[in-house]
Amino acid sequence: MEDEVYADTDSDTEGANSDGSAEQPGILQVYLIQNTFGDDNYLTICYWFFIANIAAVAVINNEGVDSEHSEDAHEDNASSSEISDFDLNLPTSHSYLGSNLEELKGRTILDEGIYMNLPLLPMRSVVLFPGQTLPLAVFGSGVINMLDNCIQKNRTFGVVCLSDDKLEMVGTTAEIFEYTQGGEDGGFCIKAKGRQRFKILEIIQGYSQKSANVRIMPEITLSHPIFEQRLTSLDHRRVMLLNQKDQATFDRIRKLDAAVTAWPDWVYKHYDPQILAFKIRQNLQFIVSRGSSVPTDPTDLSFWVAQNLPLDDKERILLLEYDCVISRLQWQLEYLTKDRILVCSTCDKKIAKQSDIFPMSKEGPQSTFCNSSGFIHDTITVYKAENLKLDPNPPSAEYSWFPGYAWTIANCDGCESHMGWRFTAHKNKSLRPLSFWGLTRKGLKSRKLKKSERKLSTRSDSS
Ligand SMILES: [Zn+2]
Repeated sequence: MEDEVYADTDSDTEGANSDGSAEQPGILQVYLIQNTFGDDNYLTICYWFFIANIAAVAVINNEGVDSEHSEDAHEDNASSSEISDFDLNLPTSHSYLGSNLEELKGRTILDEGIYMNLPLLPMRSVVLFPGQTLPLAVFGSGVINMLDNCIQKNRTFGVVCLSDDKLEMVGTTAEIFEYTQGGEDGGFCIKAKGRQRFKILEIIQGYSQKSANVRIMPEITLSHPIFEQRLTSLDHRRVMLLNQKDQATFDRIRKLDAAVTAWPDWVYKHYDPQILAFKIRQNLQFIVSRGSSVPTDPTDLSFWVAQNLPLDDKERILLLEYDCVISRLQWQLEYLTKDRILVCSTCDKKIAKQSDIFPMSKEGPQSTFCNSSGFIHDTITVYKAENLKLDPNPPSAEYSWFPGYAWTIANCDGCESHMGWRFTAHKNKSLRPLSFWGLTRKGLKSRKLKKSERKLSTRSDSS
């Protein structure tokens, strides 16, 4: 097995400290709004979400992120006229990989349902979704040769999650769009985009690299359940449900359509991708208000949400296995409408509330980053965290995933596990937010809020 080459994404804490870089920040940011209301109170929920988000954004923009740090608070009172918001486009460029990457043009689209052989890149605790950007710095000759071959051919390889040393049998193709060879240390940097899901039928172990016979999984699109019975005389009045102003017209026509069927209209609501996507986007309004792009197409949205939720590997694999957008959106809506908190995956200590999550990237609150040693980190950005202990070393701006911010390693106060980093504005103190936390997805799990915690949370929010 010594010939096997894996893209090691594990953040080995000791190794990290020895070279000072493996625990570098990355941001898997998730912005979720929690609500505890039922479907009937949806408009009320939207209103309160809107108010809550405006308030949250105001806090971030005007007061900085972490008021417990007196130094920051002092700086924050400085010249307000010079305050500038962080440019959310910066993290999406992954500029820490260097500026000399060569761009590859064109796009490879594989026919759905075809069988093919695909070079495989198993990655610990990384589940790639279509549309997601994957930055990589690789050093092993096996992986470099494989990627080099890909660039000469269709630029496509398969990413599969290695979970508890077990290879998952479902993965996503990744298409390389930028690369550079032979840096100072002979490494190889690439940026790739997740494209299509595949199912592994047979793994083939080569001399130094795995490949697999796979089937490209189809994305099943069902026609609307009432499409055949719909009142065609209303076709000219139909609208896409993309924003609030279209909702009244959309609902009226939907009810008229359902009236001629045997089922009440609320049954169809649970299977209409447009309605499910609209509800999810309403839950994520605060992300849009902070400048991130949330897709409107239901399929793109379902993958975007899967990428940005703080899910564990098993939940991510489950979402990747769904062939139909309706199943994915139903699962995600159920998840989003529960009060949740983020806790340490080792000792269960509370780390952050789901409502503390906010985006620091155009791509959303959770992104995949790579550090100088090649470790991959899915990182979620939150503006408040607790029960974390900061490394005594001064903040470092080296290889920072957020240009303008320096990072400090943060560990769990209860069990010392590595939980992520605290980012603080470096040099330019007029940058907003002044500081925030980047939590690594591997260190966290999300669980529903217990009744007792909900009361405490409400009390502390109102105080
Ligand atoms: Zn812990």
